[in-house]
Amino acid sequence: MLINLLARAAGVIRSVHLVCPPDVPLASRIVPLAPREAPLDQALLQGALAIGAVSVSPASAPAPGQTILVVGSAYDGAQSRTRFVTGYGWWGGISSHPLPLPDAYRASALPFGPYLAAALATAEVFLSVRLPQYSEPAEAYGWDCWNQTMTCTPLPGAPTGLAGVDLSGTALAGVGAVGSTWVHALWAAPGLTGTVILADADSKGVTLTNLNRCTPFGRRHLGLPKADCAAEACADAEIVWHTHHTRFEELGITPGLLVSAVDTNQARAQLQNRYPPRMLSASTLDLRAEALRVGPPGIGACLRCYNPPETVTGDDELRARTRAGGDPAVRTLAAEADVSQAEVQRWLEKGECGEVGARLLQSLRRQSEPVPARFAVGFTSAAAGTLLATETIKTLMGQPMRQAAPHHNNVTFQFLKPTADINATGPLARDPQCPACSPTHPALDTWRRRTIEASTQML
Ligand SMILES: [Zn+2]
Repeated sequence: MLINLLARAAGVIRSVHLVCPPDVPLASRIVPLAPREAPLDQALLQGALAIGAVSVSPASAPAPGQTILVVGSAYDGAQSRTRFVTGYGWWGGISSHPLPLPDAYRASALPFGPYLAAALATAEVFLSVRLPQYSEPAEAYGWDCWNQTMTCTPLPGAPTGLAGVDLSGTALAGVGAVGSTWVHALWAAPGLTGTVILADADSKGVTLTNLNRCTPFGRRHLGLPKADCAAEACADAEIVWHTHHTRFEELGITPGLLVSAVDTNQARAQLQNRYPPRMLSASTLDLRAEALRVGPPGIGACLRCYNPPETVTGDDELRARTRAGGDPAVRTLAAEADVSQAEVQRWLEKGECGEVGARLLQSLRRQSEPVPARFAVGFTSAAAGTLLATETIKTLMGQPMRQAAPHHNNVTFQFLKPTADINATGPLARDPQCPACSPTHPALDTWRRRTIEASTQML
């Protein structure tokens, strides 16, 4: 996962050099984009090549001036900028010195802690390049996904394996950056079984931009439907993926556990409308990852809470804005839509639709919803997808988000100051303004009954 994220950080990292002994057999499902029979070093290099962004090449030793990331703890060439990236089971961390760990934790083949550690390490590299004013990493820090809490060592009590956990009845809506990492993390976790639905409606399929953040996708997936690509790259899990190139709500089903990784509030409201007994959600914003266990109905936040659906600006309003902008607005619009200024004037006065009108409206829509200059970085969605995968499994095991605070339903992790107190779980109550889970909504009783039935079945 570390090589995977670094290899996608085009524009941040120029090249990655891999120091890895030859002929180490692959332990299990490690590199989704590489042939399974290749030894570890070859699989890592071929996986990076399949992404085709940042150059990853073999090396015999680090060169002076390079940032050194040591995976595991056996390394005696540490310099001032060396960071140790460590992960076992549900826990992952990063430090300036090797972190001692009890042997019991080393036995776990679960990928979640290692994936978190990979995200932490990639974030440190990103911050040192793009936001050096924030780049004073703490000597050591880490995160435990079994309890979703900051800790430099794994907390006791987490299972080391997942044999017998059946994902059947689970559906994922949205196979973008967060959703595809969710698939990736479940694929890599030994012991999981069952049939899982993957739904994604994006008609463009996998784009070049997706390759920056979607960890199972490579060049060969460009233009293809995202759900199919994730299922193809992760086909050799014991989990069976059923894919749909459509919006989840169009399937007309109510799964036992609905996992939302969609990225618009409109889509979240549509998913909430199905009122499945259990729902999870994860999202990213800039350098922040967040995961939510929806409900309980009418008490905890639902998918629609705090997420008012985006409004589309009306045609008349767009026309009024252009009129108010005077000649400069007319000139800009004419240039952008490739029509004459006279045509823009005529449209402003008469408001006729037709082909010119449609083109003008399209241009105005683009102007009124500018793409904000946000960071869309792989490590944030990798963390969100990993948090979402661990909450999926813990939910199916009947475990709380955090053992010490069973009512907590929300977890936030931001990478700008990873050791800050806000990186924690907490209770997120329902939004008093939300219509979808208001006490007067007719669906609330049904939703409550489904939730109770689902928890009774688990006992
Ligand atoms: Zn709500």
